[in-house]
Amino acid sequence: MNFSVAIDGPAGAGKSTIAKLLSKRFNLMYINTGAMYRTIALKAIKKQIKPEEIEKLCLLTDSLEMHFNDDRLIVNNEDVTDFINDPFISQNVSQYAAIPEIRERLVKLQQQMSNKYNVVMDGRDIGTVVLKNAAFKFFLTAAPEERAKRRYDELVAKGLEVNYDSILSDIIKRDYVDSHREASPLVKAEDAIEVDSSYLSIDQVVDKMTDYIVNTMNSISK
Ligand code: C5P
Repeated sequence: MNFSVAIDGPAGAGKSTIAKLLSKRFNLMYINTGAMYRTIALKAIKKQIKPEEIEKLCLLTDSLEMHFNDDRLIVNNEDVTDFINDPFISQNVSQYAAIPEIRERLVKLQQQMSNKYNVVMDGRDIGTVVLKNAAFKFFLTAAPEERAKRRYDELVAKGLEVNYDSILSDIIKRDYVDSHREASPLVKAEDAIEVDSSYLSIDQVVDKMTDYIVNTMNSISK
């Protein structure tokens, strides 16, 4: 079995930033599963396919070849990374991500990736569904206001015009939908280590996780 690290948690907790840094430290492939759900939302919205149109959404999903190149998501030979983080996609993605048929397909793809490579994968259901046997599982949280501030700063730095209050309400709404849906809701896996990043810098979080991984591996090899 390959070595894998699972990171779950609510929107804006810093999962992707942390996962990217961990991937460099441990030479793992970074799989951003949120990007895959965002791609379905992006393509569906472009084709005006609504979340109720399950059959069309399944056909759409099956028509997309997705792979990661470094931390870029390539879909049918097109780099979609810069399009999927638009606030409009953030507002709509949870509705598409709640559909079991879509989840089934993306989970299968994610598991295929983890069978091929050593991965660090972030999302909502990684420790509970996708990589139940991951060597390491983390659940990364932070207060909603702190997460909204980080997302706001990130989007402003990208030159986007955004409003803090609407980002906060989007995050709260997304947390609610992600945690209350029937199919693979966002929950902490029983065996995941919870890390609250509200008062920690990115480096402190990465160091904390790195120490945990290294200490555990050392104690196993003794
Ligand atoms: O991680 P990110 O915020 O980019 O994820 C976007 C959305 O995709 C989440 O709000 C959630 O609805 C969905 N998602 C999911 N399962 C995952 C990853 C993301 O349902 N493993």
